[in-house]
Amino acid sequence: MDSSAADPSTGIVRRPSVCPHDCPSTCALDVEVTGGQRIGRIHGAEDQRYTAGVVCAKVARYAERIHHPDRLTRPLLRVGPKGSGQFKPIDWNEALDRVAERFLDVERRCGAEAVWPYFYAGTMGLVMRDGIERLTHAKRYSRFFGTICVGAAWPGYAAGAGRISGVSPSEMAKSDVIVIWGTNAVATQVNLMTHATRARKERGATIVAIDIYDTETMRQADLALRLRPGADGALACAVMHVLFRDGLADRDYMARYADAPDALEAHLETRTPQWASAITGLSVAAIEEFASLVGRHKRTFFRLGYGFSRQRNGAANMHAALCVPTVSGAWAHEGGGALHSNSGCFKLDKTMIEGLDARDPSVRRLDQSRVGAVLGGDAEALKGGGPVKAMLIQNTNPLAVAPDQEKVRRGFAREDLFVCVHEQFLTDTARTADVVLPATMFLEHDDLYTGGGHQYLQFAPRAVDPPEGCRSNHEVVVALAERLGARHPGFAMSPRQLIDWTLRASGRGTLAELEAGRWLDCAPPFAQAHFLDGFAHADGKFHFRADWPATPYANDGLKGPWREMPSLPDHWPVNEAADDEHPFKLAISPARNFLNSTFTETATSRARERRPTAMMHPDDLAALGLADGDLARLGNGRGEVRLHVRAFAGVSRGLIVSEGVWPPSAFLDGRGINTLTGDDSVAPFGGAAFHDTRVWARAG
Ligand code: SF4
Repeated sequence: MDSSAADPSTGIVRRPSVCPHDCPSTCALDVEVTGGQRIGRIHGAEDQRYTAGVVCAKVARYAERIHHPDRLTRPLLRVGPKGSGQFKPIDWNEALDRVAERFLDVERRCGAEAVWPYFYAGTMGLVMRDGIERLTHAKRYSRFFGTICVGAAWPGYAAGAGRISGVSPSEMAKSDVIVIWGTNAVATQVNLMTHATRARKERGATIVAIDIYDTETMRQADLALRLRPGADGALACAVMHVLFRDGLADRDYMARYADAPDALEAHLETRTPQWASAITGLSVAAIEEFASLVGRHKRTFFRLGYGFSRQRNGAANMHAALCVPTVSGAWAHEGGGALHSNSGCFKLDKTMIEGLDARDPSVRRLDQSRVGAVLGGDAEALKGGGPVKAMLIQNTNPLAVAPDQEKVRRGFAREDLFVCVHEQFLTDTARTADVVLPATMFLEHDDLYTGGGHQYLQFAPRAVDPPEGCRSNHEVVVALAERLGARHPGFAMSPRQLIDWTLRASGRGTLAELEAGRWLDCAPPFAQAHFLDGFAHADGKFHFRADWPATPYANDGLKGPWREMPSLPDHWPVNEAADDEHPFKLAISPARNFLNSTFTETATSRARERRPTAMMHPDDLAALGLADGDLARLGNGRGEVRLHVRAFAGVSRGLIVSEGVWPPSAFLDGRGINTLTGDDSVAPFGGAAFHDTRVWARAG
């Protein structure tokens, strides 16, 4: 632990940490600790350039979460029917013995692939998030294919650029235009707004926001483009049409750095602003204004978020948006180019953390987004293999966050399925478990973090001791490995040893060095970040012609209607279309005071978000005979949910936006919003289209 002296007047010590939540900002934190154990206010580190002293309110008041009276602190054994929430406390040894016995029994009777360890982004720390993979590989359990966040976005970006990296966000200080596309930064990555608004103040940069409803980010933008869900590809095409038409395309740049500029120009001839206006709902004038802005300012920074990729045509839309700075030549200029995620710039050797040297590629890999189908025995989802009979779940809450929730619920209710959930609170998923294990929070263990929205590699040492009874993910994985006879050198290492090994093997120094410096800026040199030494395809070119089957990222075999995907950027009308029976489209967007399903347990966040709500245009409400605050039912073939409506003219007619992944138990009928979302695989490699759902709505 940090040993800096306490402030004599307050007794407060400030300890360094890193935000572990599923947010691209991965903020560097200064944590107030009193009495050695009590967390106070959490601050953003002033001297880390990206965090720049700013954190979001929900993390600033983390004391409420870490010292929450409902935290799990004792292992629990189910004593009532599945999902009843009836448990009795047991001790750790009995809990671990029971889990190991059941896993070994399942393995004996059904084979190792009948066990499926399941995890995700509840913490982004590499040791605590990914260590479960070491157990998976050492035991040859069914492998986990993580798609919920990146499934559509990464293939789309990589199809163009060849790898998942981009321009450092610090370059926004040199940008003339900053385009925040498909992400509500005010709610989900506050630091991005810090840098964008600073550029506006200091050099008069113009902020453009593109989204499907009037978010707070849209309200703070100089130009806000509210388009129809799934229409981003059409907007990108029309912008590029204007760039070619008006002599604003950088032909010299494209001749050197792009694969097929002539074919693209010919293809875009018919993708006019008028054509895009009919698809996007934007005015021709707004499209022309945006295109002109981008074309006249080479220092245009495209911050491409995940939100607009969560459509059935999401990968194609991401690729199309990424083509714009290539046509304008923005990549060649400081402050210009694009950033989606910088996760590709760290190049860490994760062999020891994840047990990659024990990985057997012949073992099946199951898509997390299809957990309902997997547990329901869907042959395709099971990759032709036998049923899943046992699960260990860490860092995720599939009963709330996975699509097609009724299917997921039925799967977890199976009497022949044994589930161990290692969690901080009794989530909806934990309530269905056979054994629940209490987990530590990030301030109670050591871990290593990479950023997505920046390029800092950061170490967070344990700041306080965990409550008695809580154990870290690493401790649980190691204890189970011992009981299960799993062999790997990583099981004999502490988190600090794993981190030190990883840093050394990756050429990133040592843990002692990283701890002394707190963070390491892994930003590639300018030419590399801007792809001036070539894009990451074999020919060194940016690919306007996407070769979807050859795209390297998130590739676990082709899925969905990938054969129909456009090669050149286009509007791909593959999304769930509203029809007479389902006249509305539904999007599930992030809530400012939650992060996925995390923080739904804290009183302040819940009070600020109030209750599950469907935001609808006042005219749509009136047509349904509904008023602000009324109860409504939303439904489709997958099920129905009951929640309150809110009149909001910032949502277009025909669209419903429901913010936040509220626990199903917070809804009036106990069915959460993901009851309505589909789990069909998004092309080209899988994932879920959370913002692409058609529904009916009626008074309820
Ligand atoms: S902005 Fe994101 S990374 Fe920063 S503290 Fe909030 S949730 Fe964590």
